[in-house]
Amino acid sequence: MSLDRFGRNINYLRISLTDKCNLRCVYCMPEDITFRPRAELLQDDEIDRLVRIFAELGFHKFRLTGGEPTVRANVVDIVGRIAATPGVQTVAMTTNGLLLDKLARPLANAGLSRVNVSIDTLNPEKFRKLTRWGDVEEVWAGIHAAEEAGLGVKLNSVVVRNYNDKEDVVDIARLTLFQSWQVRFIEMMPFGDVSDFQQAGIVSQEELMVTISAELGPMQRVDDGRLDGEAQLYQLEEAPGQIGFISSVTQPFCASCTRARLTADGRLRLCLLREKEVDLMTPLRNSASDDQMKAIIEEGIWHKPWGHKLGEDVIPLNRVMSEIGG
Ligand code: SAM
Ligand code: SF4
Repeated sequence: MSLDRFGRNINYLRISLTDKCNLRCVYCMPEDITFRPRAELLQDDEIDRLVRIFAELGFHKFRLTGGEPTVRANVVDIVGRIAATPGVQTVAMTTNGLLLDKLARPLANAGLSRVNVSIDTLNPEKFRKLTRWGDVEEVWAGIHAAEEAGLGVKLNSVVVRNYNDKEDVVDIARLTLFQSWQVRFIEMMPFGDVSDFQQAGIVSQEELMVTISAELGPMQRVDDGRLDGEAQLYQLEEAPGQIGFISSVTQPFCASCTRARLTADGRLRLCLLREKEVDLMTPLRNSASDDQMKAIIEEGIWHKPWGHKLGEDVIPLNRVMSEIGG
């Protein structure tokens, strides 16, 4: 078990498989971003070793993210090896869905159990504008392929003021009236180079709930407001699906946080919204033993921060979101 100094049991690792992406969402990365050379990223055998070490430290849930995880070479084999690691109970993925049409079945066969697919609007033109060139039809093809392959599917939408904060949010929430899907609205978070844009565009959960209820009627809390992961869940009347809100900015959920993040370049990121990281790549490439790696990880976890400091204008600037993975 990996405990931090606040008594939280940290057992969920989100691994960024690559900083690269086949889209350039406006809230995530600048259009002219330069990606890291491949040699600076964790290699397949390094990921395998770290997963085994984290599993031995009590981590049992793993989520693969990016950039876009499906553009990583050998992603299916990587999933297969993680799923087969003793102690690993769940392997999930967060993806833009563009390549799921082809990859959903092999990923499911390799042991992936769930995907969270990002879709910020159902409107093709707005989707293109938000992602800079994406085709929303390809995302739908990916979502359907994931369902057919038996993967659990949740939809994620980041809400950006003046892009998708009104009818788009309502259209996505309306999906829950017809499908048993969970759709989750994510408050935009400020990072690195794009933080000015992000801060101006944040739409709070409170505002979103007013927008949705005005069109679709009242929402009831699910499970007395108990968090599902990081999401507060609600349901429209008689809806088979659920609406989640991930409100890291206005309603942080630090007390129930169980996660740590591994960046594609091998840093252990202890909180999404804080710059603190522990370098695992250097000891890994300098032949540190398993026991030495475990001591470094445990020390890092112990000092996992509590709370963001956005209210004091302290914004994490050392990375953009695509390098951390969400
Ligand atoms: N490419 C994959 C995708 O889009 O799902 C995985 C990586 S992406 C960085 C992970 C999640 O972070 C996505 O749901 C994305 O919408 C979200 N995200 C990106 N930038 C964000 C920001 N500034 N604030 C909040 N969420 C953000
Ligand atoms: Fe790529 Fe995901 Fe970032 Fe969009 S949110 S640019 S799909 S990494």
